[in-house]
Amino acid sequence: MSRNTGSKCRLCRREKTKLFLKGDRCFTPKCALEKRDYAPGQHGKMTRKPSEYGIRLREKQKAKRIYGLNEAQFKRFFSIAASKPGVTGLYLLKLLESRLDNIVYRAGFGGSRDQARQLVLHGHILVNGKRVNIPSYIMKPNDVVSLKDKSKELVGVKAAVVRIKERGMLPQGGWLEVNHELLTATFKKMPEKDEIGAVINDQLIVEFYRR
Ligand code: SF4
Repeated sequence: MSRNTGSKCRLCRREKTKLFLKGDRCFTPKCALEKRDYAPGQHGKMTRKPSEYGIRLREKQKAKRIYGLNEAQFKRFFSIAASKPGVTGLYLLKLLESRLDNIVYRAGFGGSRDQARQLVLHGHILVNGKRVNIPSYIMKPNDVVSLKDKSKELVGVKAAVVRIKERGMLPQGGWLEVNHELLTATFKKMPEKDEIGAVINDQLIVEFYRR
């Protein structure tokens, strides 16, 4: 099963939520959800009470799409979370937030998670000084993410840093310390739920997989 490579705005419209998949465009009036806040397709405007199953399915789909994973990848993350003691849904969110591509995005080195993933895949990102090109790499406490010297000059990186500073969207709570002068980010620990700021009801995802 491959990752969704179709229209990203269509995914937001399907979930009726801004998933912020397209970087700058998501913050402008060009956002498709601002213009058409109903589901895509012929029957998109029809309102129907969703089933209990449908509510849980949509929550799972929403999370999967925010983090850009396919079903098999997402399920694998859920299985890892379920094997740990504690609250499965919360640990799932923490794990997703600890992925290298997400950290590059949260630090503002990429304008969207897709751009951040490309930076990782193309070898621009270092973890503790060593190149890591695996987007799903799970960060450990005190891991330091940086960019290769040449990559610091990339126009896309510079623009993304300017934008995140303008929007004041840097991670809160100290779980990720970002230095935009040096272009480094230190992963201090997994974030707490209120530090993630995601619009995801993790309990519904747990109920979806445990039905
Ligand atoms: Fe979603 Fe709007 Fe961004 Fe498109 S522009 S991906 S609809 S938030």
